[in-house]
Amino acid sequence: MPGFNATLSRMKILVVEDEERVAHFIQKGLKEEGHAVDVSYDGEDGEFLAEVNDYDLILLDLMLPKKNGIAVCRELRASGDATPVLMLTARDSIEDKVRGLDAGADDYLAKPFAFEELLARVRALLRRQSESKSPVLKLLDLELDPISRRVSRTDKAIRLTTKEYALLEYLLRNQGKVLSRTLIGEHVWDMNFDPESNVIDVYVSHLRSKIDKGFEPPLLHTLRGQGYLLSDESPPA
Ligand code: CA
Repeated sequence: MPGFNATLSRMKILVVEDEERVAHFIQKGLKEEGHAVDVSYDGEDGEFLAEVNDYDLILLDLMLPKKNGIAVCRELRASGDATPVLMLTARDSIEDKVRGLDAGADDYLAKPFAFEELLARVRALLRRQSESKSPVLKLLDLELDPISRRVSRTDKAIRLTTKEYALLEYLLRNQGKVLSRTLIGEHVWDMNFDPESNVIDVYVSHLRSKIDKGFEPPLLHTLRGQGYLLSDESPPA
């Protein structure tokens, strides 16, 4: 479906898969789609990452060292975590499928699978997720529509790159909060992001020139030594 992918906003995805080759294959493909992807190689670590980070989707292998995918999924659901889970398994049995879905998984994919099929499932789950979120994100006259991916200020269309868009979406979802470089790096890039690099500053500066230049009041503020803030009120100097 041409152009279909463009209607999805960039998401943060956790892949829990002990076969490194498979994990890296999935990670690489999802990153090429513009998503931020973390990888974990066992059930305990995966569950820990899912608890401490805020993912839009979890790809969870069924057979994992330390704790299997069913147990991880069941415990996440028991703790009130509703993050969509796509269960992966080497065994294409009805029994496994039922166990996975009973444990709270949203969908199921048997290995080996074509990457296109994985992407189609991921898209369907992410679309379901983004539709359940408030459709248009706003701050004063700045608007971002996660479905159409359109950004505008005073109804003037603004063109953003994939990363600028992901950054703005994150800032808009957390407007009024001071966001550190580490936090921004983890959400918009991935957990291996080096917070010491100046990549975020560069992207913020590009984004600011697009959303603030020629408009009043300025919305994207820098707090020296703390991070960034998207707000219609200037922070105290
Ligand atoms: Ca496995």
